[in-house]
Amino acid sequence: MPTELCDWVGDMVLIEPLSEDTFIENLKKRFDHNEIYTYIGSVVISMNPYKSLPIYTAEKVEEYRNRNFYELSPHILNIFSFKQDNDQCILITGESGAGKTEASKFVMSYVAAVCGKGQEVNKVKEQLLQSNPVLEAFGNAKTVKNDNSSRFGKYMDIEFDFKGDPLGGVISNYLLEKSRVVKQPRGERNFHIFYQLLSGASDDTLQKLKLDRDFSKYNYLSLDSATVNGLDDAASFRTVRNAMQIVGFMEDEVQSILELVAAVLKLGNIEFKPESRCNGYDESRVKDKNGEYLKEMCELLGIEQSVLERAFSFRTVEAKMEKVSTTLNVAQAYYARDALAKNLYSRLFSWLVNRINESIKVCLSGFSLNLCCFGFSSILLFLQDNSFEQFIINYCNEKLQQIFIELTLREEQEEYVREDIEWTNIEYFNNAIICDLIENNKNGILAMLDEECLRPGTVTDETFLDKLNTMCAEHQHFESRQSKNSKFLTDHSLPHNCFRIQHYAGKVLYRAEGFVDKNNDLLYRDLSQAMYKANHSLIKILFPEGNPAKVNLKRPPTAGFQFRASVGTLMKNLLTKNPNYIRCIKPNDKKAAHIFTDSLVCHQVRYLGLLENVRVRRAGYAFRQAYDPCLERYKMLCKQTWPHWKGPAREGVEVLLTDLQVPAEEFAYGRTKIFIRNPRTLFFLEEKRSQC
Ligand code: ADP
Repeated sequence: MPTELCDWVGDMVLIEPLSEDTFIENLKKRFDHNEIYTYIGSVVISMNPYKSLPIYTAEKVEEYRNRNFYELSPHILNIFSFKQDNDQCILITGESGAGKTEASKFVMSYVAAVCGKGQEVNKVKEQLLQSNPVLEAFGNAKTVKNDNSSRFGKYMDIEFDFKGDPLGGVISNYLLEKSRVVKQPRGERNFHIFYQLLSGASDDTLQKLKLDRDFSKYNYLSLDSATVNGLDDAASFRTVRNAMQIVGFMEDEVQSILELVAAVLKLGNIEFKPESRCNGYDESRVKDKNGEYLKEMCELLGIEQSVLERAFSFRTVEAKMEKVSTTLNVAQAYYARDALAKNLYSRLFSWLVNRINESIKVCLSGFSLNLCCFGFSSILLFLQDNSFEQFIINYCNEKLQQIFIELTLREEQEEYVREDIEWTNIEYFNNAIICDLIENNKNGILAMLDEECLRPGTVTDETFLDKLNTMCAEHQHFESRQSKNSKFLTDHSLPHNCFRIQHYAGKVLYRAEGFVDKNNDLLYRDLSQAMYKANHSLIKILFPEGNPAKVNLKRPPTAGFQFRASVGTLMKNLLTKNPNYIRCIKPNDKKAAHIFTDSLVCHQVRYLGLLENVRVRRAGYAFRQAYDPCLERYKMLCKQTWPHWKGPAREGVEVLLTDLQVPAEEFAYGRTKIFIRNPRTLFFLEEKRSQC
């Protein structure tokens, strides 16, 4: 730490003067010297080095285990030395490719290294680690920004026993970007598993599934970027199969999963044509040339072909005592087809997560230590085409930021109380106002969207946007082209059907198109009933609402509503724990070592709210240190304390500071630590020390 002050600092609270430029320059200097970790107090910033560094060896682990953290350069392994409380959690955040997965692996390996090593422990550890390739195959995709981008939020709760041995874990997933199943933005791909299956499965497997190796045969697979440089789909398929085995999937389960993946591909190739009816309405029919796909899909899933065919032509609406059947036109049939594909896939994904949980979950008894990893991999701010999913994900990030601020402040406050230091109020930006704009029960954006979805009559994305414009016109974090009354903005540079939210991390433009539809997440009952009737063990359990005995006339909850509820649970859970933070940053978009792109890093520093974090930390006392090491470090600055101080360390520090004539308001004496208000005071001490 302080020895580095002349050039860079290991703790950002010591930066002087604090600005975005100095912050990034510090990160850059450290990165250039392979110092990829930097602190903000007890928060660890981790820069992805894109090369392996010899800093995770067994010797290093030992070194960090036995020394005080301020004596060694910042390291992720120190996360364990900041606090000794039980019920800890580690929140790992950052954008895709920033190093979250690697960080969580280091954390787990560290735990495994310092705790017992039985066979059982190794099995649990291996299963936890191997759940990754499976989740990645089904939940990740190539995007413009990242060849392996997670398209879902992940929360992993790992349970440890009293010795610190991992007992098991629970993974929760949040909002898979299911629209990707049926359509991908230009230059992006569908989920990896589709390509992996076609490239890597044996001829025999493909024959059984009646699949063609040629990606171009399938409508749901984008063609412009089907093969990705550096991605070996065939090899990945073998890795995934192997991982499934380790995690504990049975052979017949794997077969069922692959059948479902194949069924989705076939579903995408079913096309429709209009058939005129005497009443003047058009009714959709499956095109003859696609009959084969329909047949194969039905065979794979054990569904009667006529039932599915009918479900693509008619829709039954059940009211209190009656059933009304209406015909579907071609557009509606395509809508129904895509809704089915999205539901099949996303429900399969949720099932996979649950299935993995079953393997890694264990009954807990007695005392346990809790460690959680949160990796929200899909921070999609500032992409061109932000839609409903990104809106939802950014809402989650907003909540995580809120909890971050709240807990950091709470922690500061608690430390002051513990140390008997008078509490000074900290000025900070509270993003509660933005969370409220989104989640308020009465007039938040999600509530408004739900209201639109439930309203009878013609509901479109435009009517939703109109409503938003009226309701949010005065909100300082909402911007729209049409907001007539807005005193802040009537920004004509905004495209017509868009709105913009000033998130804590910056402004994000959202296209309203598709919001209503995606929130509705409507799957016609005829289709869920057809799926429920399937003679296929997995499909049947994925569509429980298709059970005719359980017809529920109530509308299922909207996607936004469900997400808000699960974010609420997550936040509640996190608030009861002692959080440690690892904030991961990606240095460049080329996945290359030694390249540090200022603008890219700057963007991440902003949306992770890191400067805000330093400000909060510095608003009270920027630096604190236990009396013993403090005296040890500076005792040579004063005759009375050099070479040995005989009394208690606290008194020694008092004598020392008085002798140096440091103004009293610069310090506060806690029970065990000295608190220094301004980093400049620390620099002063360091300078004196270097002159000795
Ligand atoms: P994320 O989970 O945030 O999407 P990953 O943890 O998968 O990102 O990291 C992406 C890639 O970056 C890894 O595959 C690895 O090659 C590299 N990487 C990340 N962190 C480190 C690290 N600490 N040391 C070496 N390479 C790393």
